Amino acid sequence: MTDTQNESTWTKRQGELQRAIREHSLTARNAKAMLEYYLRLNCPEHQTTSHRDGHPKWCGRCGYTDQGVQLGAPDAEQSEPSTRTTFTVSEYIDLCHGIARDKGFWDKGVEAANIGEKLMLMTSEIAETFEEWRAGHGVTETYYNSDKPDKPEGVPIEIADLVIRVLDFCGAFGIDLEEAIMTKVRYNTTRPHMHGKLA
Ligand SMILES: [Mg+2]
Repeated sequence: MTDTQNESTWTKRQGELQRAIREHSLTARNAKAMLEYYLRLNCPEHQTTSHRDGHPKWCGRCGYTDQGVQLGAPDAEQSEPSTRTTFTVSEYIDLCHGIARDKGFWDKGVEAANIGEKLMLMTSEIAETFEEWRAGHGVTETYYNSDKPDKPEGVPIEIADLVIRVLDFCGAFGIDLEEAIMTKVRYNTTRPHMHGKLA
C-alpha cells in the first residue's frame, strides 16, 4: 500500500469512527479512548515483522498484527497520540460495546435482544475456559494454533471473552458496573470470615 493510500484509509477510518462514536453517544472521554484504540489498529505506518520465534509478526510502531491482535507494546515516541493502553471499567464498557455495535451484534436494537441468551453466552465462555484448562493449558498461557496463527487461544483469552461479553451487556443496558462493583465490595467488607460459611 502506498503512503497516499495509507493516509486515505487512515482519514476514512477516522471519519467512520467519529460517526460511530456520535451514534453510540459516547462521552468525550470514552470517545477519545475508543478512537485511540481503533487508531492503533489502523496504524498509518503499519508494517509487521517477526519479533519472537513462533509468534505471528507484529508492527513495531503500533504493536498489532495485521489482524488487529496486540502482541507488542506501541512505540510511545512514534505512535502519538495513540500511546494509551489502560482504560477505566466504564471506558472498557464503551469500548467493548462500541466494537460489538460496529460489528453488527446490536443491529436489531437493544429492545430486541434475548437477555437470557446473552447471559447464557457468558456461561459458555466459562465452559470454554474450562475446556482450555482441561486440555492441559496453564491458567496464564496464551497460545496460537498453526491453522489460525493470528487467533489467540487459552484460559486468559476465554476469560477475556467472558469479560468482553459482560462489558458489552453492561454497555447495552446502561449498567454502571463501577458503581455496582463498589456497592458490592463495600457490603462484602462488612461480612464475616468466609462470609459466615463453614470451611
Ligand atoms: Mg470464547
